[in-house]
Amino acid sequence: MKQQIKTVGIVGSGPSGATLASLLALKGVDVTIFDDGRRPDLIVGESLIPSIIPVMRKLGLEERVAAICQHKPGVTFTFGRDQAIDFCFDSVEGVLPTYSYNSPRPALDRLFDERADELGAKRARVRAKVERVGQDGLKLADETLAAAPWLNGRQPDLLVDSTGRARLFARTLEIPAEVGPRRDVAYFAHYEGVAAHPIEGQVVIGRMDHAGWSWRIPLRDCMSVGIVLNKDDAAQLGATPEERLEAAIDRDSQLSDAGKNRRRISEVAVYTNYQLVSERGHGPGWVMTGDAFGFVDPMLSPGMWLALRSAEVLTENLDNLPAYTREMRKLIKAWMDLVQYFYDGRMFAMYHTGAYFERTYPGKISDTIKYHVNRLIASMAAGATTTSVFSRGFIKFMARHGIRKSNPVELAIR
Ligand SMILES: Cc1cc2nc3c(=O)[nH]c(=O)nc-3n(C[C@H](O)[C@H](O)[C@H](O)COP(=O)(O)OP(=O)(O)OC[C@H]3O[C@@H](n4cnc5c(N)ncnc54)[C@H](O)[C@@H]3O)c2cc1C
Repeated sequence: MKQQIKTVGIVGSGPSGATLASLLALKGVDVTIFDDGRRPDLIVGESLIPSIIPVMRKLGLEERVAAICQHKPGVTFTFGRDQAIDFCFDSVEGVLPTYSYNSPRPALDRLFDERADELGAKRARVRAKVERVGQDGLKLADETLAAAPWLNGRQPDLLVDSTGRARLFARTLEIPAEVGPRRDVAYFAHYEGVAAHPIEGQVVIGRMDHAGWSWRIPLRDCMSVGIVLNKDDAAQLGATPEERLEAAIDRDSQLSDAGKNRRRISEVAVYTNYQLVSERGHGPGWVMTGDAFGFVDPMLSPGMWLALRSAEVLTENLDNLPAYTREMRKLIKAWMDLVQYFYDGRMFAMYHTGAYFERTYPGKISDTIKYHVNRLIASMAAGATTTSVFSRGFIKFMARHGIRKSNPVELAIR
């Protein structure tokens, strides 16, 4: 069937918008990006999962990405000072690349932009505005359209909202969002002198002693340290973001150990209200990608990949927006379900159970079970099998029937 959509206007040039621009340009679609090019110095989305690499390769970008990023071999989840689950991406061998990257986000975004420009996407340097047309339609505001004179005053056939959490189209059309269960706030900054995991590049996600969880993401020249916790718990830590982040590090056993010689080298960035999925993902002549459509939760770092994947899925379904929306909802739901096992303590309880069996029945059978369960979970967290019916069913079964000698409630992240 001949493609109906010939011109596309993408609002927002973050990872999802710029990737979409590249993929559509490769397909011969006439693309205009609307973005003023302004970025904060510090942006979340630093820890990437292996499933992002095939998209980067498709864009012809991996070499340039590797040149600015820290190689990432896996993730370690810690709960308490001495307990850790190591997930190594080796376990996705044959399915996905066995590594990923930790990225300096603003520099990574510049690479995505550069590539879109090289592939022929046009760029209007403007903070875009859109207006409602009738009940359900949208158009670019006159001054925004005028910033792209090559469109000769004609609205693009399709408008894409890639504005991230600004959710420009949803706000304009007053489309509500389904809000996730957590009311967290995240504070993060870059540090020197924070101890890294012994495996170079390994990201550490830690359940904090008092409330919430933390990240340590090694970048090439510094460590990104973040904390994510309930807004009320955060308020008790101090008056300013700086006080709250520093106090959280000081009172947590693992973070204070790792950070005893720390020196903060950036401002502290704050993110809040981010577990949102738009109740609608498309309408007549418009569609949403990346965070503008929905964002799950940062703990397992799926955001950047979902942003890029949404660009891929939309490119494949440009004339079938309902199919695009269905696929994205399926992905978002699978990630939400997976992260819930970490928050409610069942993932850590399953690990405890495994460790108990290993101690009680040492030998080949225990080792084999541990190897396969680790591999299954690592594959899901790497993005290889997150939606797999078998993997989802297996975890559900194990969480319901396989937990022994461990109480998930005590291991939950408050
Ligand atoms: C606390 C926290 C930690 C996270 N950590 C990770 C992580 O470690 N790994 C990971 O993969 N993901 C992480 N994420 C998620 C990740 O950052 C996002 O999923 C990702 O940035 C989404 O990309 P995007 O292109 O959809 O949106 P964005 O990256 O937000 O890009 C949107 C772009 O649109 C532009 N824009 C907005 N409004 C307009 C307008 N009106 N006109 C023109 N342009 C506009 C913005 O300037 C921006 O450049 C985290 C999220 C949070 C909240």
